[in-house]
Amino acid sequence: MQNLDIAKFGGTSVANYDAMSKCVEVVTSNKNTKLVVVSACAGVTNLLVELASGACDSAGREEIIAKVFAIHKEIISKLDNQEEHEAVIKNYLKVVHDLAIQASMTRTDMITDRLVSHGELMSSYLITQIFKQKGFDAEWFDVRRVMRTDSSYGKAVALVEVISSLSEEHLVPLLDSGKIVVTQGFIGADSSGQTTTLGRGGSDYSAALLGESCHAQTISIWTDVPGVYTTDPRLVPEAMPISELTYLEAAEMATFGAKILHPSTLVPAVRCGIPVYVGSSKAPEQGGTWVRPTTDYSPAFRAVALRKSQTLIVLSSPKMVGATGFLAQVFSIFAKYNLSVDLVSTSEVSIAITIDAGSQTSGLSSIPEALYHELREFCHVRTESGLSLVAVIGNNMARTSHITAEVFSAIDNYAVRMICYGASSHNLCFLVGEEDAVDVLKLLHKSLLESEKA
Ligand code: ADP
Ligand code: ASP
Ligand code: MG
Repeated sequence: MQNLDIAKFGGTSVANYDAMSKCVEVVTSNKNTKLVVVSACAGVTNLLVELASGACDSAGREEIIAKVFAIHKEIISKLDNQEEHEAVIKNYLKVVHDLAIQASMTRTDMITDRLVSHGELMSSYLITQIFKQKGFDAEWFDVRRVMRTDSSYGKAVALVEVISSLSEEHLVPLLDSGKIVVTQGFIGADSSGQTTTLGRGGSDYSAALLGESCHAQTISIWTDVPGVYTTDPRLVPEAMPISELTYLEAAEMATFGAKILHPSTLVPAVRCGIPVYVGSSKAPEQGGTWVRPTTDYSPAFRAVALRKSQTLIVLSSPKMVGATGFLAQVFSIFAKYNLSVDLVSTSEVSIAITIDAGSQTSGLSSIPEALYHELREFCHVRTESGLSLVAVIGNNMARTSHITAEVFSAIDNYAVRMICYGASSHNLCFLVGEEDAVDVLKLLHKSLLESEKA
């Protein structure tokens, strides 16, 4: 289909009947929006993750399932043919119940993914019914027919070429028929047909992958704020919306904690040069942010972001002095456990590293004990927690004078645990104590961004 726009709606955008109706208005007011990707209704994924943890007893399971049912029942109560829709949701919840019992015996990431995927399955089913009830030709599509991933349950890797060929076969013809196709974010399937997930917040990434495989002209991420702001508006009320961002700036923001976009979202968009729009489904008239390859305005300071609960791993060994290959040895161990190293700083006998161990669907840390064992075989290992990563994002930073002075003079009453600067001219990152993090963010925002034109 020509000029295809993909609209992704997050959890709060599909939280209840009224919110879903707003999404229907957003979709149908743009004749090019034909593919709709939805998250689970707000709060549902958290409840399902709790069930999948296997920690609930029978009464706890019933209580959670009743809460999940109530969220969907509110939507069903506004629909025609309520009995039919209630039966569909109850069938899904029967599977959820059985999986929760399995999880209480042995928790696995495979069971977690299957169980948690029901959030998106249910929300996409119900919003499809709202489209139909309002007279639109909409069709529910199981994204697992095209969203092929590997079998790393909990944070699966998307297999882009397979997704493209499967989409060409199953999804593009449906879009060409002119229907509105409604599908799920976050979930996929491996080559044996087992359900997988892309990690928490993964629906943005799903939309971008489908944008790439269906040759979309635009990807629209509809959420609960009118665009990307200079920082999280929930933490800093003075945050301001940004009208235009480059892919690089947006990717840095997402990577370093701006939850508004899943960190991988920009990857498919960059590969195909598809512009990404971010706006509020509740207030689309307020406008939003365009994320594009380039922008007219490239300020030195564009945004600040915060990522909480970081673990710092300090590795030291006297053998490092004058030795070669120490870093290679360390990194090969992290690679073996499929962990990506975020920040790195080195001294004569030690290396400090932070790991991005969050965002697994299970909510569990992905740093296994076995990794520490292997590291301890050749160096001393010390970990520090209770830290937050603060990132200042901008342009040409490593070649502009006064950048570091401006950043650190604004927060000179606070201890900075580690600094990373120079690898990219788009960011300056550092670690501070968790208890200081929001104050540091507010101070930086005030001094770097509140006088600037965003
Ligand atoms: P969705 O459920 O629609 O995917 P998310 O909760 O994942 O929504 O992302 C939207 C939230 O991201 C906002 O409510 C806001 O609190 C948070 N956020 C963090 N950083 C930013 C930022 N720089 N700009 C806008 N929102 C941000
Ligand atoms: N429902 C999933 C989550 O809460 C995916 C998403 O919303 O993007 O993480
Ligand atoms: Mg999100």
